[in-house]
Amino acid sequence: MTTERRIAYFSMEIALSEELPTYAGGLGVLAGDTIRSAADLRVPMVAVTLLHRKGYFDQRLDADGWQSEQPAEWSPERHLVEQPPRVSVEIEARTVQLRAWRYEVAGVGQFVVPVYLLDTDIAENGEWDRKLTDTLYGGDDHYRLCQEVVLGMGGVRMLQALGYAKLQRYHMNEGHSSLLALELLDEHVAAAGRTQSNRDDVIAVHDKCVFTTHTPVPAGHDRFSQEMAERVLGSALNSHDQDIYSHDGRLNMTYLALNLSHYVNGVAKKHGEVSRHMFAKYQIDSITNGVHAATWTTRPFQQLFDQHIPGWREDNFNLRYALSIPHNEILETHGRAKKALVEYVNRETNAGFNEDVLTLGFARRAATYKRPGLLLEDAERLLELSRKHALQLVFAGKAHPRDQTGKKLIQHVFQQAKQLRPSVNLVFLPNYDMRLGLLITSGVDVWLNTPQPPLEASGTSGMKAALNGVPSLSVLDGWWIEGCIEGVTGWGIGERQRDERPHECAENDACSLYGKLEDVVLPLFCRDRDGFAEVMRHAIALNGSFFNTQRMMQQYVLKAYFP
Ligand SMILES: *Cc1c(COP(=O)(O)O)cnc(C)c1O
Repeated sequence: MTTERRIAYFSMEIALSEELPTYAGGLGVLAGDTIRSAADLRVPMVAVTLLHRKGYFDQRLDADGWQSEQPAEWSPERHLVEQPPRVSVEIEARTVQLRAWRYEVAGVGQFVVPVYLLDTDIAENGEWDRKLTDTLYGGDDHYRLCQEVVLGMGGVRMLQALGYAKLQRYHMNEGHSSLLALELLDEHVAAAGRTQSNRDDVIAVHDKCVFTTHTPVPAGHDRFSQEMAERVLGSALNSHDQDIYSHDGRLNMTYLALNLSHYVNGVAKKHGEVSRHMFAKYQIDSITNGVHAATWTTRPFQQLFDQHIPGWREDNFNLRYALSIPHNEILETHGRAKKALVEYVNRETNAGFNEDVLTLGFARRAATYKRPGLLLEDAERLLELSRKHALQLVFAGKAHPRDQTGKKLIQHVFQQAKQLRPSVNLVFLPNYDMRLGLLITSGVDVWLNTPQPPLEASGTSGMKAALNGVPSLSVLDGWWIEGCIEGVTGWGIGERQRDERPHECAENDACSLYGKLEDVVLPLFCRDRDGFAEVMRHAIALNGSFFNTQRMMQQYVLKAYFP
């Protein structure tokens, strides 16, 4: 079985389960959902990541809304199985040993995709090296580059040591694992008995590699100074033409992956376009992201689908038949999901949420371009709106520990909330994670997303909402350009809708957002429950059936893995 695996999937973070804090956000959740769908579809895949023994942090918020962090320590021994092989990598001319822990992701038909979590915390290593697989996105550039040596080069060696001899493709989920391509190149050079790589080696490696880029934001593209690269990697760089790994005089993980992959994609149609502008010399396709349907459907809706659409877990396309589920059943099922959220909010925050009040949700990693404050930009306008229709808002999201700007964004939401109370009831729930993600996306009435175009590569939380019959009210960017059919699956903010309020809201997304809420969403919710239920049903049938990782994995198989 082991030896039959054809595809190796590499990711710096993977959200394997609610219990394992081995992910920070969207990239990790996508990786986990990808693997879950590969298991459902029996794709012969094996996955590699780092152990992240200290986890991604627990978020604390003080009375002023300032974030502090606690390590989210967990016990690998309780969840994973240690594997016998040991392999090593060279870092700054030291030999660093690593081992792997195995986690099994079982699909709907019990097919298993094994995931190996690499760990340098072993007695043979020095003190500093033992901490290399502790902290996800922790430390400085130097720490990151060393981690990437472990992930990319160590990962390839570990798969070999574990007996995976028939791997045909290596999928780099973002550039953090690009050094795997250099490792494959080295293997090829060594096998040919040479010391310098040539065109043939590049072509051979090219054929094996697949690269998915995930963001147009520069911070998402790892670069390291030539000096640091030489210090950390030593002679590993000497045998290759600098053009392969270097851009503007620096080691560039995105260009390394671009240069050595036969298939490159962005994660939504628009993001493909944006990426082609950023990297004009390369052929870049797009495969729009998805979410794992069963994972992101709350229990009440799982039961409703089991009743009306048997087989939906095995074949998510079946969710289109949600069109025949009666409105009242959809409303009643959503009511149960909403009750769970309202109870959680009231238990945790004492906010006095009401199940009958229109509830909006926004949960994103705190980053400037995601504009968490857009809805709160004009407090007067929001208060005026709330005098006509009651409103409740749920916010959540972590800022990276070193991101002071992100922390200020969270604090700003906190302060706005104080201003808006009691007319608008806003809560910020700490510790956004998979569990909270499902609770919020399924429990609110409308999902809100307000990125600054064109910086949202895809976004996936609105897809989770759709599976639970929750329509989106979102800026037309990322996946929502594809998913939004105005008034049918949800509502757009800005751009495509500008004709409706052409002068008033030109270039002003906040204005467009208030207008859409006031004129369209609130009236529909308050006065036309059947009309609202119809949008909910279309969110499931049109978007739940398509924006899932099962459709996505099928596209990777056809376009990237086995074209
Ligand atoms: C789904 C999810 C994300 C990603 O959502 P986006 O809309 O892409 O930001 C991030 N974090 C958690 C915990 C999630 O569940």
